[in-house]
Amino acid sequence: MLDLDKRNITYLPGVGPKKAEVLRKEMEIVSYEDLLYYFPYKHLDRSRYYSIREIREEMPYIQLKGRIVSFDYLGEGHTRRLVAVFSDGTGTIDLVWFRGHKYITDKLKTDTEYIVFGKPTLFGSRYNLTHPDVDPVSQAQQVAAGLVPYYNTTEKMKSSFLNSRAIQNLIYTLLESVQGQLPETLPDYLVSRMGLMPANEALRQIHFPQSPEKLQRARTRLKFEELFYIQLNMLRTSRMRQQKFKGIPFERVGKYFNTFYKEHLPFELTNAQKRVVKEMRADMGSGRQMNRLLQGDVGSGKTLVALLTMLLALDNNCQACLMAPTEILATQHYATISELLSGLGIRVSLLTGSTRKRERNKILPALENGETQILIGTHALIEDKVHFNRLGLAIIDEQHRFGVAQRSRLWTKGDNLPHVLVMTATPIPRTLAMTLYGDLDVSVIDELPPGRKPILTMHRYDNKKAQLFEFLRKEINRGRQAYVVYPLIEGSEKTDYKNLEEGFELFKEVFPEFTVCMVHGRMKAADKDREMQRFASGEAQILMATTVIEVGVNVPNASVMVIESAERFGLSQLHQLRGRVGRGAEQSYCILTSGYKLSSETRKRMEIMVSSNNGFEIAEADLRLRGHGDIEGTQQSGQPINLRIANLATDGQLLQLAHDTASGILEADPELASEPNRRLRVRLQQLFARKINWGMIS
Ligand code: ADP
Ligand code: MG
Repeated sequence: MLDLDKRNITYLPGVGPKKAEVLRKEMEIVSYEDLLYYFPYKHLDRSRYYSIREIREEMPYIQLKGRIVSFDYLGEGHTRRLVAVFSDGTGTIDLVWFRGHKYITDKLKTDTEYIVFGKPTLFGSRYNLTHPDVDPVSQAQQVAAGLVPYYNTTEKMKSSFLNSRAIQNLIYTLLESVQGQLPETLPDYLVSRMGLMPANEALRQIHFPQSPEKLQRARTRLKFEELFYIQLNMLRTSRMRQQKFKGIPFERVGKYFNTFYKEHLPFELTNAQKRVVKEMRADMGSGRQMNRLLQGDVGSGKTLVALLTMLLALDNNCQACLMAPTEILATQHYATISELLSGLGIRVSLLTGSTRKRERNKILPALENGETQILIGTHALIEDKVHFNRLGLAIIDEQHRFGVAQRSRLWTKGDNLPHVLVMTATPIPRTLAMTLYGDLDVSVIDELPPGRKPILTMHRYDNKKAQLFEFLRKEINRGRQAYVVYPLIEGSEKTDYKNLEEGFELFKEVFPEFTVCMVHGRMKAADKDREMQRFASGEAQILMATTVIEVGVNVPNASVMVIESAERFGLSQLHQLRGRVGRGAEQSYCILTSGYKLSSETRKRMEIMVSSNNGFEIAEADLRLRGHGDIEGTQQSGQPINLRIANLATDGQLLQLAHDTASGILEADPELASEPNRRLRVRLQQLFARKINWGMIS
């Protein structure tokens, strides 16, 4: 065995302790293997030399062979530059450097043959290459042979002489120094059955491909390998967890569920709601511990589903809890659920950060002795002092606001392991859900309650304010209510709050005939509640707010959502906010306002919002526009998804294949005990042992 994962990068010729430290800090590259799996983000074709005569401005890159005739310094101050006149016999071109002059003049000599590579630009009547790659012809084999790799680097790396070229050289050295074959990381039967390129070849071709076709095959192989091991790890740990922890079997459907269903249900469930309740009933009745993600677009009726599953818990002599990310939301859930359950003799309590001590002293004992059957609240639910009598089901609303660590804390309440249901209205694209929560089962409510009219979304520039005010006046005179939301973004809170306050004053002036109220995160909980209440009751017609109203809040008569500075919100967040309207029978509107100057990406975001009402479509678009690293929730999910090569936006099929393959292998050999599967066990150990044990905490 070569043990590439154990060989320290410090000892690779050309590295040494200083550079090793930079590589570790900047890129987490510690071993030979880490470097080998540091893949290039692109390749450029350097198989061909051009002559200076042939250069056209539209050429993206050119490669020339020739000599430097002379050096000169031109310009002053920040335009001061080093210019070398370069000739190949067919003409001359300028090589230009704005920085690193000493390094260049030390390294480059006149009358020596060089290969230069860069993007040609026309400056006056002459072509030049700014900061080109320059190498002696003696290195042609390495730098100008076909497809050349380019690696991401950071400023710190560059200042330690670890630019893309240096990384390329190190990897070249590494591959040269390895005697024999790079070890295969997948079982041989898998490689041959799936027609994958072997590891030895793939790892060489991904850096220094011999042809575009081979590069493509190497990519596919390495993407598969990456996704496959993530799936295998996740599926294996979730199997182990299922063996270790049994859930409380909810075998009965009893009087709580049935009475509520037959006599108290305010409306017929949608088919999707029925199906999802059934899925969960089966799951919780099986003796297995349920771990389920419930996805449903805003307004799809998740609360009712949550309530029905809580009643199942009660029917089986268990308690249930529901945790929401904000106080407003918890309070609203409490009000909704208490009202729906009135007359059923079920004891429901609310526990939040602002619950008074006296109140708390009543709630906690009642919870511990089992009198309180349903507890609703915020983070306060997972404080150490909260003890359940027999918690059977823990529901977490709007999961993306909670980290994994918090989910796990709920688990340890009570002697038995409760079933866990995580609800989210931020539809996570399927590929992302599989990667992040592959160990959770997923239920989807893909249908809105009947009678909803699709929300009409418009994008308006700031200079059309007068028309916006007219529109609002018209809608409010019809009896509707409106939200006006301002961004609140970390780092610019001060101006953000100022904008909100100024907006509030302006709206009061523009609409003297209406009542305008305001809610934001800096207000005391009681004040917030009072203002929310004024809006919910209809006393106030306009609610100005920061994103505190983003999740969950439900005022069906509100039919207009105005989002100020919409360009500063992400797609998923815009969709969330929009979901606050469109809950009643009236036509609802969402108006995105922004400045005139927008980047093309922002413009696309606005277009998507205007053209689509579908949360899943929007989430997919968000993934494509931003990449999975930036998607809301992934950072907080607690699970690292530092994919090196696979791309969740485009590799959905490969991910599915990886998932199915991993699942099939575990089905046949759960312990990975067979001889050919030994490699899988070893590799899992290498890949995941130094990280946290995901399975146990999700
Ligand atoms: P979300 O999924 O966003 O949490 P809610 O549970 O808040 O959605 O439900 C949104 C609104 O739809 C609420 O006013 C709720 O009473 C209503 N609703 C839920 N289910 C149905 C249904 N089957 N038929 C009609 N209205 C429903
Ligand atoms: Mg909700």
